[in-house]
Amino acid sequence: SVRVRFAPSPTGPLHIGGVRTALYNYLFAKKHQGTFILRIEDTDQTRYVPGAEDYIQKALAWCKINIDEGPKQGGDYGPYRQSERKSLYKDYALTLVSKGKAYYSFDTAEELEQLRNDYEAKKETFIYNWHNRQQLNNSLALSEEQLQHKLDSGIPYVIRFKTPVDQELQLQDEIRGNITVNTSTLDDKVLFKSDGMPTYHLANIVDDHLMKITHVIRGEEWLPSLALHVLLYQAFEWKTPAFAHLPLILKPVGKGKLSKRDGDKLGFPVFPLEWIDPKTEHLSKGYKEDGYLADAVINMLAFLGWNPGTEQELFTMDELIESFDLSRVNKSGAKFDPEKTLWFQQQHLQLQDNDFFTAQLQSILDEKEISTTLDLSKIANSIKERAIFSKDLWELSKFYFVTPTSYDEKAMKKAWKEDTSELMQELIQQLNSIDTYSSEYLANEIKSWIKNKDIGFGKIMMPFRLAFVGSLQGPDLFDIASILGKEETINRIQNLLN
Ligand code: GLU
Repeated sequence: SVRVRFAPSPTGPLHIGGVRTALYNYLFAKKHQGTFILRIEDTDQTRYVPGAEDYIQKALAWCKINIDEGPKQGGDYGPYRQSERKSLYKDYALTLVSKGKAYYSFDTAEELEQLRNDYEAKKETFIYNWHNRQQLNNSLALSEEQLQHKLDSGIPYVIRFKTPVDQELQLQDEIRGNITVNTSTLDDKVLFKSDGMPTYHLANIVDDHLMKITHVIRGEEWLPSLALHVLLYQAFEWKTPAFAHLPLILKPVGKGKLSKRDGDKLGFPVFPLEWIDPKTEHLSKGYKEDGYLADAVINMLAFLGWNPGTEQELFTMDELIESFDLSRVNKSGAKFDPEKTLWFQQQHLQLQDNDFFTAQLQSILDEKEISTTLDLSKIANSIKERAIFSKDLWELSKFYFVTPTSYDEKAMKKAWKEDTSELMQELIQQLNSIDTYSSEYLANEIKSWIKNKDIGFGKIMMPFRLAFVGSLQGPDLFDIASILGKEETINRIQNLLN
């Protein structure tokens, strides 16, 4: 069965590129009734940032990307933090040494630096591989006894992969198709470091194997490592998983990859949740705190590099799971589009039912310590279609709760004519004579009264609206009247006249 993993390094907050990688893994897993695993790749202690793992867990939870196996969730293939698996990697590195697929290397940092400089002087680049490894300070140039002596005396070493010479490697990528690489161009990557920790390459392959990962879905920046990874599977004689490298996410304007700092420049979040950098205390905006629905963010991310091949743009998570397919993921980079994100937000907000809007409005009122006897469900219903964010509900509805005390000047000029005062007095009389304050009934009565007077609707409706709202905006007047009731309706017209 399908098993995929999202394997972030906790070096900072997860940006939207990372969330997209997690999302595609999740969609693929769920589509195939598979398992979605979170593995924390924290072998590089120098880059560890406190709070980052917690952030990753919270961000995935907010996005409703549910983790089947992970550090907090547990599972049969744990531990799921590489720092807790530390003890098992060395044996795998040694296995490769004994198979002749890897070797000890004693070159010091200074020696390597010297070599790099020497090559540079010759206008060449130093690559540690087949063409020079016999002459360097490693076990390939030592006798059995010399090697043992070095190891016994505790001289620091790393273990390097012995990349095969002149082999045409046929690589397969689910998105990019076939890729051919000649192994002679590759360097002998370090697998195991002198500090006793594995490098990313070794730990990643060992864990993918032990955790029975069937599909590796990750960012394009790992494509250059694919050849080494496939060679490692071959060296271990393990089954190689399928690979899919996702396209880059590009800046909305200009060239290049969207960076973590672009959020500040764009005024749009590039992180799911707010993040305060523990060192600089710099605050980066998050979609959640900016009032976006997780559904909208997920929908937007799904389309950054994938499309369903139909006209449909609005998707719930369940619909995405059903439609997602690696074969419809693009090879070329996807431009991040903040405006489109707003559109997704608006669309997803409008998909919510009236109870959702009512609850949102209630919590806004609670926060403002406003209590009311008005029908919130009707209020929400009258204004919701103009909201992009839940927080907009306050601006759209506040006139219901706060009687206007001033009126928009321009609107006043437009609405107020010589006979307005008189007409409003008449309107009050009409409103007084009606006892059924339902929207339809009121509309019928008032409209036929205006019709009979033969004066055009604007002369009544504009000042009427001003009395209610304070401006010429807002929902249907008779909806407002039916919600506010007879007393307050008349009261507001009277206020306008005073
Ligand atoms: N730890 C790597 C990262 O941070 C994982 C890469 C992979 O998925 O193989 O992106």
